[in-house]
Amino acid sequence: MSLSQLARSICESPTLKLNEIAALLRDKGEPVIHLGGGEPKSKTPIDAIMSCSSMLQTGDVKYAPPDGIPALKKAIIRYTEEHYGRIVSPENVIASNGAKQAIMVALHAILDPKEEVIFPVPYWVSYPEMVKLAGGVPVPVTARDGSFEPTVDEIAEAIGSYTKAVIINSPNNPSGVVYSEKFVAGVVEQCEKRGLYLIMDDTYNRLLFDGRTPTNCYRYASEGNLDSSKLLLINCVSKMYAMTGFRIGWAIGNKALIRAMTNIQSQETSGPATPSQWAAVGALNGIQSSIESLRLTLENNRNVMMSRLEAFPGVKVVKPGGTFYCFPDFSAYEKDSGKLARLLLEKVRVVTVPGREFGLEGHLRLSYCGAIKDVTEGINRIKWALDPDAPNELFLGDRKIVRDWR
Ligand code: PMP
Repeated sequence: MSLSQLARSICESPTLKLNEIAALLRDKGEPVIHLGGGEPKSKTPIDAIMSCSSMLQTGDVKYAPPDGIPALKKAIIRYTEEHYGRIVSPENVIASNGAKQAIMVALHAILDPKEEVIFPVPYWVSYPEMVKLAGGVPVPVTARDGSFEPTVDEIAEAIGSYTKAVIINSPNNPSGVVYSEKFVAGVVEQCEKRGLYLIMDDTYNRLLFDGRTPTNCYRYASEGNLDSSKLLLINCVSKMYAMTGFRIGWAIGNKALIRAMTNIQSQETSGPATPSQWAAVGALNGIQSSIESLRLTLENNRNVMMSRLEAFPGVKVVKPGGTFYCFPDFSAYEKDSGKLARLLLEKVRVVTVPGREFGLEGHLRLSYCGAIKDVTEGINRIKWALDPDAPNELFLGDRKIVRDWR
C-alpha cells in the first residue's frame, strides 16, 4: 500500500495509544494503574447535560455554522470578557472540535511550507506533529539551565527568517509548570516586535494551585484593536469542566485569521457537533462550582503525588503549579524513558508516558487526575520496580510477582 510522505512522517498520539493499551489490559483483568491519563475523572456538569439533552429532545439535530452556533459564541464572548477583560465580537471567535482542532486549523491558516513554529521544551506531544501536518517545521526550545522554562532570550535566539509563530502552553502539559508573568510578557513583546503569531494555549489555565491566578496574555499585548493583533487565544471545555468527550474548544483572534480558520474548518469537518456545542453552552453559562471542586481535588492529588515522589531517592521533581501532570526526572534509574515506561507497564502494570514524547529524555509524565489510591499505589509499584533493595516479591491484587530484573 502506498501512503503519502506526510502520513508516513506523522506519529500516532502516544497518549491516546496508551489509553488503548491500558483499556485492553484492564479488559483482560490485569490490575492496571493508569498514571498516563489526560482527563479528569469527574462527571460532566449537570448544566451541560441539561442543555445538551433538551436540544436532543427536540429531535432537530442539524448542521451547525462552521464557526459555531450563535449561543456558544455568545457564551465564549462572555467567558472572555469575564476571565480576560476583553470584549470581542462574534467574528473574533471560532468554535472547533476541541482545542486540538482550533490549533490545527490555526496552523493550516498561517503556515506556508517550511515555515517554523517555536515552542518551549517540554511541550505537549501534539505540537510537533500538528506543525508537520500543516507543512511547517517544529522548533522546540530547551532551557539551557535545565529548567522547564526557557528564557525570553532563548526564545528570541530561535527566531529566524522562517519563523511564523510561537506556541505557549501555561500551565504546561507535561510539566505542570506555570510560566512566570515575566516570561509570558516577554514572549508577547517579542512576537509583537518580530511580527509573529503567538498561540496561547490556555487549556489548563483554570486548574491552578497554591492560590495562583490565571495569566492573562492580553495584559501584555499592546493596547488597541484585536483585529491588528497576531495573538490567538485557545481554550476548551475539555479539562476545566471534565468534558473531554464532547470535543469543544475555541479560538479568539483577529477577524481575518478567524475567517481563514473558518473556511478551512468548513471544508475539513464543518462546525462541531451541535449537541456538543449546546453542552458547552450549558457548562459555560451554568453553575461554575465544578471547576473549583475539580481544582481542589487536583491540588490535593498533586500534594499526595509530590510527597510520594519527594521520598523517592534519586528522583528529581519540580512541583507543578497547575494541570494534573508532573514530569519527574528518573534518569538516575534509567536514561531511556521509552524503555523505562515499557518496564513499568510490563512488570508492574503502571502506565506512564515517556518523557521523550515531550522532548525530554530521562523523564516520565505522571498524571494525578485519577483516584488518589491509584496515585499512591502507582508510585509504590514504580518504587518497588526500580529499587534494587526492595523485597523480592510484590502483590498486584492477589497475584504475586517476583523480581526477575536487575
Ligand atoms: N492543548 C494541550 C496542552 C492539551 O494537553 C490538550 C489535550 N490533552 C489539548 C490542547 C487538546 O484539548 P482538546 O481535548 O480540547 O482537543
